[in-house]
Amino acid sequence: MTEETTDLEPMPDDWTRALAIVAHPDDVEFGCAGAVAAWTAAGKQVGYLLLTRGEAGIDGMAPQEAVKVREHEQRAGAALVGVATVEFLDYADGSIAYTTELRRDLAAAIRSHRPELVVTFTHHDITYTGKWNSPDHRNAGRAALDAVLDAGNRWIFPELDAEPWNGVKYAAVAGSDQPTHAVDVSASLDAAVASIEAHAAYLAGLGIPPGAARTPLEAFVNATGQRFGGRPAIPFELIRY
Ligand SMILES: [Zn+2]
Repeated sequence: MTEETTDLEPMPDDWTRALAIVAHPDDVEFGCAGAVAAWTAAGKQVGYLLLTRGEAGIDGMAPQEAVKVREHEQRAGAALVGVATVEFLDYADGSIAYTTELRRDLAAAIRSHRPELVVTFTHHDITYTGKWNSPDHRNAGRAALDAVLDAGNRWIFPELDAEPWNGVKYAAVAGSDQPTHAVDVSASLDAAVASIEAHAAYLAGLGIPPGAARTPLEAFVNATGQRFGGRPAIPFELIRY
């Protein structure tokens, strides 16, 4: 038995709008859909901004077909956790680079959505699994964290129409190998599972049969719970601004 601790702190609650900025359809679902479901159930607003449509994500499906399937699955997965706003930037799946153009696009989105919390998937070299992270995740995550600062400075990207937004208090990094905080998902686990299962074609492409997403997710949230007073939880690395 692992000894129970409480070294992960509860996520701050002093925010009302969040924007999740991730590289691919399924990044939010595998990273933190249970937390999103808990937040929307508590009345908070969450939007998704995806840099790509995940067209390179299904080995047996050509990108021009996958682009439609994966957008549809992403919108369905978002709706199941109370998220109605899903936007795509149409960067190329698999070759997201850290560029000034990307920071400008993300700063524009942050100025437009005006979130107090930005959610990303990990920008670190190693993910929570202990395995090497993908360049799309690293570059998307780091650009999102930097774009929070850009969004607040009117002299950076002055060509953008939107007024600066200085209201982001936190970023919550999902999938981090250095988590500091957690969200109790004991009431939102079913929604999280449904949100993952909405990516049916993607899961099939990975050889994961219908209904098989629950067991690994339960194991993950229960393992996180061992560091959160025994409550099943989704971990985040919290970054303050
Ligand atoms: Zn991804």
